[in-house]
Amino acid sequence: MSAKQARPSPPRPSPPRPSPYPLPKGERGSGEAAVGVIGGSGLYEMDGLEDVRWVKVRTPFGDPSDAYCTGRFGGRRVIFLPRHGRGHRMTPSELNYRANIYGMKALGAHALVSISAVGSMKEDIHPLELVVPDQFYDHTKRRVGTFFGDGIVAHVSMAHPVCAGVATALAKAGKDVGARVHRGGTYICIEGPQFSTKGESEIYRRWGVSVIGMTNMPEAKLAREAELCYATLALVTDYDVWHEEHDAVTVEAVVANLMKNVSTAKEVLRRVIPLVPESCGQGCPEALTSAVITDPSAFPPRTRKRLALLLDRHFPPKAGARRRG
Ligand SMILES: [Zn+2]
Repeated sequence: MSAKQARPSPPRPSPPRPSPYPLPKGERGSGEAAVGVIGGSGLYEMDGLEDVRWVKVRTPFGDPSDAYCTGRFGGRRVIFLPRHGRGHRMTPSELNYRANIYGMKALGAHALVSISAVGSMKEDIHPLELVVPDQFYDHTKRRVGTFFGDGIVAHVSMAHPVCAGVATALAKAGKDVGARVHRGGTYICIEGPQFSTKGESEIYRRWGVSVIGMTNMPEAKLAREAELCYATLALVTDYDVWHEEHDAVTVEAVVANLMKNVSTAKEVLRRVIPLVPESCGQGCPEALTSAVITDPSAFPPRTRKRLALLLDRHFPPKAGARRRG
């Protein structure tokens, strides 16, 4: 073998490549503050949208639960995703929370309204009432809860996980439809898919939580990392299993409440969309400022590329480099 043959060829700079995750034409958003809505159990479509298109989004984190329904309502651009997929095909543990939130961000959502069925953990929070929690307790056990890792580390603040602007809009819309609305309180998120034992339920009550559900974590954490405003409209179906007098409530009664809540949620959505603030006064859109700990010079290129949607604004690609769409 000659010296010439043995010499390794120098690495060639790779040519810029188009994004492997392109959005369909016209779906990138125009910078207009779009309102994202994640529909929970029983809510698989949004009534009243105009210019409706179902858009499939590919993400570096896998597939979202379903296509996104984009359209307009009350003068606003709206992006709706049925959390469990149309037909309710996925358990809370099976949801790809990262893909769901990434897709919302990619389509131009600035704020997220999360519609969620919950159990009440307090005597005074009755079935069919609405709760707009201001805190979460993550009691899930096997979900990926961050976009970061693989060489890029970020620690966002979760001290105030809910955007006060969106929460205020939800509370007002809830009152406007005549519902009793409880503002504030802690939503405990359990892994499921089974409901709690009585022992667990009693322990959670001693922890002081207000409602119990299975989906808002890590949804809220990922929304924060994606710098989206996030608030939950929790609709109460039952008293979980702790309540002695309500212990005998039948599955039929719970399902009937769920369906009533879906109709309430649709009414609240009609009113809340125009009320969601177009700009946030609370810092949600700046959640990543100072949160990334890793020295940018040490960013692994592959990870940096996967996180371009989140990081480009804070760490602009080098001049001359092609931006990802
Ligand atoms: Zn906000």
